[in-house]
Amino acid sequence: MRSTLFSFFLAASLTSSFIQADSSTIQVTYAQAQNKTEAANLKLLQQSDVVKIFSDLVDSEFKLKYPIKPQFGAEDGPLYDPESHELMMPYSFLEESQQRFAKAKYEKTGISVNEATLDAVQHTLFHELAHALIAMYDLPIVGKEEDAADNLATVLLIEYLDDGAEVAISAADLFDLEGEEVQELGEADFWDEHSLDAQRYYTTMCHVYGSDPQKYKEVKTEAGFDKERAETCSDDYTLVRENWFKLLKPIMKNPT
Ligand SMILES: [Zn+2]
Repeated sequence: MRSTLFSFFLAASLTSSFIQADSSTIQVTYAQAQNKTEAANLKLLQQSDVVKIFSDLVDSEFKLKYPIKPQFGAEDGPLYDPESHELMMPYSFLEESQQRFAKAKYEKTGISVNEATLDAVQHTLFHELAHALIAMYDLPIVGKEEDAADNLATVLLIEYLDDGAEVAISAADLFDLEGEEVQELGEADFWDEHSLDAQRYYTTMCHVYGSDPQKYKEVKTEAGFDKERAETCSDDYTLVRENWFKLLKPIMKNPT
């Protein structure tokens, strides 16, 4: 067994295109909580199934060249570091999300502040997975990588999770709340790698609506799309879904 393992790692280090065999490709760590809020959020994460859903989906669907290492309680982020393969998420991301959802009285939607926060975490994990896959396989992206990452997050949520559209809507609502906090847009908002929060909100809502216009007609109303824009959402969603799956086909275990 030991010698098999040794040759396994040797092969991994010698061949850059080596694809890891079936051990878990997601290596999660949780930093020690530094205060009560962090401790509560650490518990919230560990008691929820967001990390398991992420790991199970990546393990069952993707061939990774090397493991991805989600680090909860990281100092920086959310971000993916292509050199260390760390997917960093600070506890403050959860705390700030909770503050925004609480201020907006989000529980009125029927989704609690903590549920919405976990939805935002779930969406972010898939968004960072997109960055990881792009870096790992040098995937060609034409346009903003940040938009492509948002698109893949929405597609994976909708196509693989039973309540994925709802998760995507919570994440979109968080973009909306973040956007509302900005009194006046500055130059930095326009040269930022990310699209504006309001654009990230509308694009995600458009994709959710477009994935099933009949089922999500309320999403169209909530976002306020006019008839013309609403009609393009189906094509927009089909385009990002099909193009992402075309791009991912060689690295998927069960390509669609
Ligand atoms: Zn990103």
